[in-house]
Amino acid sequence: MKMSPVQDVRQWFPSDDGNEQDRMQLMKLMEQLMTGFDLLKDPERVNLKGSKDRSGDFYGQLNESSVIPPQGKAMEDVTRGLIELMHAHPYHTKYFMTNILPMASIPGIMGMLAAMLVNGNNLWDVYGPAGAEAEVRVVSMMSKLVGYDHTRSGGYTTWGGQGAIFTGLRLAIVKFAPDASRTGVPNNLYAFCSDSAHYSLYKSMEATGLGSDRLVKIRTRSDSSMDTADLKWKLEQVIRSGGVPIYIVATTGTTDAMGIDDISEIMNIAVQAAAANGLNRPHIHADSALGGFFAFFNDYDFALNPLALDMETLGALHAIAGKMKHIHLADTMCFDFQKLGQTPYLTSLLLVKEAESLRLLDLNPDETPYVGYRGYGQYHTGYTLECSRMASSISIYSALLAFGIEGYQQLLAQFVSVNLAFRRQLMKEVPEMVIANPDNPGITTLLRIYENRISRFQEELAGECPLDELLRNNRLNERLFELLGERRDEMFFGDTKKHLLVLSQEGVEVPLYASKLFVISPYTQLEHVPAIVGYLKERVDEIYEQYHSPYQSGRSVEVV
Ligand SMILES: *Cc1c(COP(=O)(O)O)cnc(C)c1O
Repeated sequence: MKMSPVQDVRQWFPSDDGNEQDRMQLMKLMEQLMTGFDLLKDPERVNLKGSKDRSGDFYGQLNESSVIPPQGKAMEDVTRGLIELMHAHPYHTKYFMTNILPMASIPGIMGMLAAMLVNGNNLWDVYGPAGAEAEVRVVSMMSKLVGYDHTRSGGYTTWGGQGAIFTGLRLAIVKFAPDASRTGVPNNLYAFCSDSAHYSLYKSMEATGLGSDRLVKIRTRSDSSMDTADLKWKLEQVIRSGGVPIYIVATTGTTDAMGIDDISEIMNIAVQAAAANGLNRPHIHADSALGGFFAFFNDYDFALNPLALDMETLGALHAIAGKMKHIHLADTMCFDFQKLGQTPYLTSLLLVKEAESLRLLDLNPDETPYVGYRGYGQYHTGYTLECSRMASSISIYSALLAFGIEGYQQLLAQFVSVNLAFRRQLMKEVPEMVIANPDNPGITTLLRIYENRISRFQEELAGECPLDELLRNNRLNERLFELLGERRDEMFFGDTKKHLLVLSQEGVEVPLYASKLFVISPYTQLEHVPAIVGYLKERVDEIYEQYHSPYQSGRSVEVV
């Protein structure tokens, strides 16, 4: 496209009349982008091709050299620049096994594209009818899946699992302090979550002004689920000292270990503690951002096994589904479709059991002059924290239609079976790597190594290890993180410095460090497991060659 000195501004936009020539122009740019992208792919590496030295003063240099061009560039050149941005970008090939960063699926991408083409604003159905329609549809679909009454439930797409946790807290506050939106938040309100919960609640406490001092952390069991006896005790403690428990976040699928809190038990305890003290029951949010997708197995016939899943995978899924089936008890929950829903960022869905409760957060009509009350129906969003919203529901809608329940079942079953095969082979080939979340058979495996290749995991859980030993083993694991990190273009693993808090012999709480394998790429297949295990074995051997415990007999060099 040649730029003339006097420009026709329409050149930068799609046509208004649907003419083929303009469409072909746009398709040509798409073709250029997609081809350039495909040329960067290498299934044997984690990163796309192209070199990019991000060390040294990379960002400082960018800061120095970046200016807006006085005259715009041709779109072909801009597209070339976009392709350059992708150079050396991690991509979800078979050896991409870090955290919950999925590949955007084709239906997810197409949905996003559809949303962009009409570019509606999900603020109001008159501005974004496509998004509003898709949103109402996906809220209904997911409500039915999890067992909410779709005639009463509601929800909307929002800014992440963190946004859902935040709105859950906003709801909890207004339920207990209806005037809080005017007069501010009372300072005797408390929220609860487990030690293994996502830090989102911590941020929400800060942002609502409650303060993180009013966040009570509940101990976890060794399977990373909330210790409900500790919850009961701490609820009573708070009430006895004049506090009001308003919010419990039950993590249904922790981000690191896939621990699943028992919502039914948490609900019972909350009901009892409140009733015994003449209080209302705290609002319960199921943080199902990640794990909620296992609800796709809620109605799977495990006896008939129509997908012919192998027995081991079937057993694992059955165990997960058994714990997940209570999430419909929660007042609110979340599905991060950009996690296991296979859609692009950002496509998080908040579900609310009683849609009516959102009214508590609604603005007065006088305060929302732009929107709402002249819509086609009852659709308006005066209660969202956002004003303008992207119509990410369209991408979710597209993925739900394309995958269907069975498609999601197959995908999740593949992830689980690869993870189980990995565990089995690892235990055989690299027994010194201890699986630190053995009771959670989901899609992640946490791996921890110990001095002298001798597992101390059970002793750690039992509180029998001295502090200095715990710290030394954490450092050893940190060295493994570094080694794996240096070579992450070959295989990309995750890690965490916060798996399970254990007590040292001296009674000091210490979080365990662990490397993490997250099965998240559809391209990671069973046949790749031996290579993954072999690679880990080499790295672990390298670590042990460098590291000798000070307590090991013979010549010892402690590398710290
Ligand atoms: C990812 C995650 C979050 C945060 O979600 P964002 O979409 O990143 O805001 C919260 N809780 C859990 C359990 C998660 O896995």
